[in-house]
Amino acid sequence: RAGASMEPALQFFSEEMNQRVREHLRIESELREALANGELMLYYQPKVSLRSGRIVGAEALLRWRHPVRGLVSPGVFIPVAEETGLITELGNWVIEEACGQIRRWREAGLAMPPVAVNLSARQFDRGLPQRMADALERHQVRPEQIMLEITESLLVRGAEPVVAIMNELVAMGLALALDDFGTGYSSLAYLKKFPISTLKIDRAFVVGLPHEENDCAIARAIVTMGQQMRQEIVAEGVETMDQMAFLRDLGCDQLQGYLFSQPVPAADFERMVRAGRRLALALPDR
Ligand code: C2E
Ligand code: MG
Ligand code: MG
Ligand code: MG
Repeated sequence: RAGASMEPALQFFSEEMNQRVREHLRIESELREALANGELMLYYQPKVSLRSGRIVGAEALLRWRHPVRGLVSPGVFIPVAEETGLITELGNWVIEEACGQIRRWREAGLAMPPVAVNLSARQFDRGLPQRMADALERHQVRPEQIMLEITESLLVRGAEPVVAIMNELVAMGLALALDDFGTGYSSLAYLKKFPISTLKIDRAFVVGLPHEENDCAIARAIVTMGQQMRQEIVAEGVETMDQMAFLRDLGCDQLQGYLFSQPVPAADFERMVRAGRRLALALPDR
């Protein structure tokens, strides 16, 4: 009978589920401790202008220095934090830490470019503008020094409150970037409803440049549309000179990726800016 032969598979499946649940619970409780014990830190990845080659910003990316497991990537713990709701506390820590870092740079007399922080859709509630205002005030940070990266999942949820909250943030002087653009479910029609000033082309479409025709077409379409809508376009995950040259020729504004730098601790990012490090936009003449 079919039922009998199904049994082992079902048992296997539920054992696997059990393990997943246990793993999630473990990560959740360890993440709570991590927050309390100061095991979290922000790394900074430069954003570089494709016109000047200069560093014009940075994205702050969460890192977890686990006492046993070493550096844990956000791909592992952010999904758990999203599921358990811990992302709210994590997100608040990120905002606080980024503002604190900007303040330390200012107090050290350094001119540093704006920092973008990632926001989870779950952080996007009516209290967000006030929480942002409090953090800015506490650290005497100007709103132009912070950018907020959001994802398409938020637009799809797209009800009135989301637009109202975005408008409030923008009115405060905070700029919004749409992250991982092209990978979500939002239609282009959504875009014009939201006060978004920057589009980030997802790495998924950058990886095949300049050889994959489809990736080229998508990158070209996004850059063209962004120009029409007066948005800044940032390409994510740029790793090669060929990708860079293709994006530069399209008129893409900025790039972020291993070609220039991986995400690095604040002190390393600071050194890069102080040294005036620039991206070579052309191969040296010979
Ligand atoms: P994201 O916001 O799209 O960040 C870009 C990711 O691409 C980062 O991964 C970065 O290290 C990686 N990346 C950048 N350039 C390259 C490249 O040239 N090649 C490759 N292979 N990868 C590149 P990371 O740091 O592991 O973060 C993964 C994701 O975790 C982020 O994607 C973001 O969605 C989430 N995340 C990170 N920090 C936070 C945070 O503070 N809050 C929230 N809500 N999410 C965060
Ligand atoms: Mg991001
Ligand atoms: Mg991204
Ligand atoms: Mg991405």
